[in-house]
Amino acid sequence: MADADCPFCKIVAGDVPAKKVYEDDAVVAFEDMNPQAPTHVLVVPKQHLRDLPAVAADPRAVAGYLAGIRATAESLGLTEFRTVFNTGAGVGQSVWHVHAHVLAGRPMGWPPG
Ligand code: AMP
Ligand code: ZN
Repeated sequence: MADADCPFCKIVAGDVPAKKVYEDDAVVAFEDMNPQAPTHVLVVPKQHLRDLPAVAADPRAVAGYLAGIRATAESLGLTEFRTVFNTGAGVGQSVWHVHAHVLAGRPMGWPPG
């Protein structure tokens, strides 16, 4: 389930410190170390899944993960927020444990850069 070399598995396990803002059976949410908005948290499944297609291939993971993202936003009191998944190095994925960026607290342009 966990990958010994994965930085986000280490956060899930508590072996690497992070500012956790929400946790349930399926997910952990923590503050991004390089925030791009006043609120910028990453929501990760506790299970090591490398990207969004890997989540989609596991129907049991989909439900818990989506509910965990929703619960994170609710626990932070967010009514408006942007959710970003980068899938692939060419569009900016740099950590190979799927993570939803949840961003809020400032105006946001469209399309994203
Ligand atoms: P991405 O480029 O979409 O893969 O996003 C990776 C994100 O993880 C970046 O926004 C980083 O700032 C963030 N990040 C990487 N390592 C950590 C960490 N140990 N704690 C918090 N955020 C991290
Ligand atoms: Zn992992």
